[in-house]
Amino acid sequence: MKSVLVTGGAGYIGSHTVLELKNRNITAVVLDNLSTGHREAVHTPHFYEGDISDCGLVKSIIRKHNIDAVIHFAAKSLVSESIEKPELYFRENTIKSCSFFETIIQEGVKHIVFSSTAAVYGITGDKPIRETAPLEPVNPYGESKLMIEKYLHWVGKRHNVKWAALRYFNAAGAALDGIIGEDHNPESHLIPLILQTALGRREKISIFGDDYPTPDGTCIRDYIHVLDLAAAHLSALGALYEDRLVQNVYNVGTGAGHSVKEMIETSETITERNIPKQTDKRRAGDPPVLVADSRALQEHTGWKPKYSDLQTIIQSAWAWHTTHPSGF
Ligand code: UDP
Repeated sequence: MKSVLVTGGAGYIGSHTVLELKNRNITAVVLDNLSTGHREAVHTPHFYEGDISDCGLVKSIIRKHNIDAVIHFAAKSLVSESIEKPELYFRENTIKSCSFFETIIQEGVKHIVFSSTAAVYGITGDKPIRETAPLEPVNPYGESKLMIEKYLHWVGKRHNVKWAALRYFNAAGAALDGIIGEDHNPESHLIPLILQTALGRREKISIFGDDYPTPDGTCIRDYIHVLDLAAAHLSALGALYEDRLVQNVYNVGTGAGHSVKEMIETSETITERNIPKQTDKRRAGDPPVLVADSRALQEHTGWKPKYSDLQTIIQSAWAWHTTHPSGF
């Protein structure tokens, strides 16, 4: 592996993956249009501000840095926004990714890791969810990503490109040395909202529904530490190079689920603060339980989550939020 182009490397998961590449002495080259990412999050000297649809720029980066692998994160990723603005999601995620992949394949790139999502499954009753579960997205975000998985299937076959799509469950936590973390604007994710409430920056945390068919009535999710997620990309990439991947799509999660109430209670213990909470109505499109079966990734690449216990997730996120209360 020479140099890896990371699109969306200024975003939450992308920036942690760049750190992981750095730790392994692999050159990371970032392309990000900074529409949602942060320049301060990018810990590589090779940064290009620009769009993945700018073919000229993409070609020049690939030639200049001798790129032979790409990890493609750049995307819009808010489910509710995707329902409001489906055109935006199909343009930004699907159309632009097709044009980007066409360019890099023309330039001879043969290894691709693509950032997909558990949203490709929609509302399944499976617990945990395997990669073979039905693909029935219930929002344009999931659909826009699924279309790219299908694109890669056909185009990869035709051009002999090795690729893997990682379907993430709930990314969480922050770098253990506290230099980067989660900073979305607007913030819609559970853990940052809980911790901002603990800091007094929000009045209360809303629990979206406590009448789900789960032990405490609140939704259960599979929270995976962002560093484990970053490592999963490098495990997948390594396996692509060594031709060890048995399939193209992999779930990335822990296999363990935690309820919204459990997340709030653990946060109260870790922050040693009372966190004001209120039960609200259910949020549209939220399945009661989403837990990954990610044994395939573990068996085929040797990847294993190391930091995804709730303690480490919430502690690292808390360290980030207390030192960066307004984000970057
Ligand atoms: N959630 C909540 N209150 C909030 C934000 C999220 O109760 O203010 C719940 C949400 O309904 C879901 C879980 O927390 O069950 C995780 O939501 P998040 O938006 O973090 O991730 P998602 O599961 O939607 O990818």
